[in-house]
Amino acid sequence: MPLVEARAWLEVDLSALEANWNLLQARAKGEVIPVLKADAYGHGALPLARFLLARGARQVAVAHPKEGRALREGGVEGEVLLLGSLHPAEAEEALRWRLTPTLSTLEGAQALAHRARALGLFPRAHLKVDTGMNRVGFPWEEAKAALEAVEALGVRVEGVYSHLATAGEDPGFVEVQRRRFQRVREALGPGYFYHLENSHGLLLHGGDNVRVGLALYGLIPGLGLRPILRLRARPTLVKRLRPGDRVGYGGEYVARGGEWLATLPVGYADGLPRGAVRQVLGPGGEVCPVAGRISMDQTTVLLPAPVGLEAVFEVLSADFGPTGLLAWAEARGTIPYEVAVHLSRRLPRVYRHGEEVVEVLD
Ligand SMILES: *Cc1c(COP(=O)(O)O)cnc(C)c1O
Repeated sequence: MPLVEARAWLEVDLSALEANWNLLQARAKGEVIPVLKADAYGHGALPLARFLLARGARQVAVAHPKEGRALREGGVEGEVLLLGSLHPAEAEEALRWRLTPTLSTLEGAQALAHRARALGLFPRAHLKVDTGMNRVGFPWEEAKAALEAVEALGVRVEGVYSHLATAGEDPGFVEVQRRRFQRVREALGPGYFYHLENSHGLLLHGGDNVRVGLALYGLIPGLGLRPILRLRARPTLVKRLRPGDRVGYGGEYVARGGEWLATLPVGYADGLPRGAVRQVLGPGGEVCPVAGRISMDQTTVLLPAPVGLEAVFEVLSADFGPTGLLAWAEARGTIPYEVAVHLSRRLPRVYRHGEEVVEVLD
């Protein structure tokens, strides 16, 4: 492994991302929109947007105008869809940065039309239809009237979409939403880009045009997808404990004596869920149990034998085992999304394609 000059870093495996992307494209009957909101669920939106747009993605999706703007400032030229419902206060930013907003209120549509006129820009949007989640979207029964009202304002509606509330949880309700969305398609007719399924929707039920996040990051087991992110760290201190030595806050770990201990410079501020990370992998893949509590910036682990400070530990591994992100989420009693989006922004990110390091963001 080529040397990375850092004491801790996140490493994204672009080869695995490419394999996931190819698998998802083969599954979908239509277009796959990569969902890169929340900095691509902690994986880094800009490098992933560039990588996927170069591999056939026509558009990417983010949540906030700020996230779209960061992609534009990073040189992304493709379509950028803003998920969520456009707030009137965001209309100008969406227009100026050529981002495609989602409309689910007439207030949003009016603001978009008015700001576009004032700026001499052309208003385009996707229409969000609520088929049962009751979060955002025009009610599906009123989709036709909503479309006409938005178009009457001079906004070009390019896409129409809805979001599944229970994919992976309640297949019966997925079918209810799919039927409602089909009714919307029939009422609105051709000429719009329709998209519905998320990761679980596509993988469990199939899909036409889809928006996928979690599956792209390989965080769904058993379907041939692979996680793409690792967190690696070098020890800042290695020492031998004496009998009775207590380690960390609360002195919770009490040494028998003779154990080797390494301090790794990552903690819960870097996204390690406190109380849920029980072990890391040592330089030779050996299991190193966490000793004592995880601190904000540091974690102490037990070693089978002493190592030098150049040794590289795998704190988070790109698999479905006990050091993987799904195990962290389960031990924390939460969903993998939440753990992923809390991975540190302060760690450097290394993007690797095969053995080659293609980009380092710091
Ligand atoms: C986040 C999001 C997605 C992606 O969901 P995954 O479960 O990660 O595939 C799709 N559509 C919308 C509207 C979203 O907000």
